[in-house]
Amino acid sequence: MATPIPGDPHGLKRRGVLFVLSSPSGAGKSTIARMLLADEEGLEMSVSATTRPMRPGEVDGRDYHFVDLEEFRRMVAEDEFLEWAHVFDNRYGTPRAQVEALLASGKDVLFDIDWQGAQQLFQIAGGDVVRVFIFPPSMAELRQRLEKRATDSAQVIDARMARAANEVSHWDGYDYVLVNDDVDACFRGVKTILAAERLKRSRQTGLIGFIRRLTR
Ligand code: 5GP
Repeated sequence: MATPIPGDPHGLKRRGVLFVLSSPSGAGKSTIARMLLADEEGLEMSVSATTRPMRPGEVDGRDYHFVDLEEFRRMVAEDEFLEWAHVFDNRYGTPRAQVEALLASGKDVLFDIDWQGAQQLFQIAGGDVVRVFIFPPSMAELRQRLEKRATDSAQVIDARMARAANEVSHWDGYDYVLVNDDVDACFRGVKTILAAERLKRSRQTGLIGFIRRLTR
């Protein structure tokens, strides 16, 4: 979908970027996503629907659209998801309408989805999708971070570590990989990826007209 480049005076247009961030929980992906949304003009979050219960501090419609299984099944049946997957014991899906509306209004879209979602999105939207994976510095460090949250039992932390190992095993389904041992450095890395991807020649749909004007 062709979208104007924010602040571009040259009449270049480009296709929106579908920017996917994945990582095991605790590797800092939500922090990086928050920093990116605050700092980047023209980037909006895709808000997923999920059947998992709301956690303290979460807001319906901001963090997720919290729906019951029946509603989720209806959305699947009516083809309302761009992609959806079972993650752990719950279902998560990306509502199609919101993403289409954002792209049509000239925004790039940020997705916090797992490897299954990244894969499905890539199958649908190919070169418009940029898949970024964030590694923790080590699995020991990841465990420490999860333990520091002090909200979960040892059993829950063990389960999260097992899921983290599974998520990490899909690293080869991504275009870019970063290690988050320093959140500011990781953030700068992610910003650099987005900046470069926005400039890719293949996204510039107004290029022919621009070159014509330039060489007239
Ligand atoms: P959490 O329950 O901790 O918010 O998220 C659990 C996992 O589900 C995370 O890895 C997150 O990236 C993934 N996830 C969230 N929304 C979606 C979605 O719409 N589609 C897919 N495939 N995964 C999602």
